[in-house]
Amino acid sequence: MYNETAKNIRENLKADCSKCFGLCCTALNIVASSDFAINKPAGTPCPNLQKDFRCKIHKNLRDTGFKGCTVFDCLGAGQKISQDTFNGQSWREHPEIAEKMFRAFPVMEQLYEMIAFIAESLTYNISDSLRNQLNEQLRKLQNLTDINADKLLSLDIMSCRLPVNELLLETSEYIRGQLSSKVFKIKKGQRLRGADFIGKNLKGKDLRTTDFRGAYLIAADLCNSDLRGVDFIGADLRDANLSGANLSTSMFLTQMQINSAKGNNKSILPKHIQLPPHWVN
Ligand code: SF4
Repeated sequence: MYNETAKNIRENLKADCSKCFGLCCTALNIVASSDFAINKPAGTPCPNLQKDFRCKIHKNLRDTGFKGCTVFDCLGAGQKISQDTFNGQSWREHPEIAEKMFRAFPVMEQLYEMIAFIAESLTYNISDSLRNQLNEQLRKLQNLTDINADKLLSLDIMSCRLPVNELLLETSEYIRGQLSSKVFKIKKGQRLRGADFIGKNLKGKDLRTTDFRGAYLIAADLCNSDLRGVDFIGADLRDANLSGANLSTSMFLTQMQINSAKGNNKSILPKHIQLPPHWVN
C-alpha cells in the first residue's frame, strides 16, 4: 500500500508548463553551446518566450539549436512556484516579485529532485528503519515546498541534501546487493563513481548493478547493454547511445538524463520514464 503511494508521488512529479510563468525560460542562466543557440543571463526572458509564456519555436527546438530545451524537466517545480509560492501572480504583471521568483525557482527544483529520489527509494523493498528515515526526510522536504519565498531563499539546501544523500546511498547499496545476489545471481557490479567513460565503447556489456553515481558517460556507446539495477544518480548521459539497452530496473534515473541521451524504441526504460519523442522520430 505504502509502495503504491510512493509510486504515485514519483509519477506525479511532472511539469505542467500551462501553469508556469515560463520560469525555466527566464530564471536560469544559459550559456551558448551545442544545446542552446544563444547566451541568456539568469532573470532575462529568452527572446523566444511569448507574452502567454509559451515558446514560439516549441515545435522546432531541436532543429533550431535549442536541443537543451527539450531535455529540461523541472518535475513540476515551475508550477509550484508560480501557482502556490507566488499565488498565481506572474513576474510580467508584478515585476516587483520577479527577482525573488527567479531565485526561488532553482531552490524548489532541488527540493523536487530530492523528493523524487526519496519517493523512488520508498518503492523498493527496504528495511523498516531505512523506510522510516526516508519518510521523515520526505515529510520535511514536502513541508519545505510550502514555505514562503523569503524562507525558501534563506534555506541552506546543502544541509537538506546531506541526510538525503546518505539515505539514497544506503538504499542503492542495499537494493543493488539484493538484486545481485537474489535476482541476477551475480557478483555486485563495480563501484565506478565519477568515472570517466566519455565516448567509450560499452556496447553490449553486462553492467548490471554497477554504481555509476556521478559518472561521465557523455557520448558513450551503451547500445544493447544490460543496465538493470545500475545506480545512475548524477551521471552525465548526454548523447550516450542507449539504443536497445535494458534500463528497466535502473535506479535514480531521471527523465532529464534520458532526454539528454540517444536511444530507440527497443530501449527498455523504468516505468516512470517516458520514451523521448526524439528517440522514435
Ligand atoms: S527556446 Fe523556447 S523553450 Fe527554450 S528557453 Fe527559449 S522560450 Fe524556453
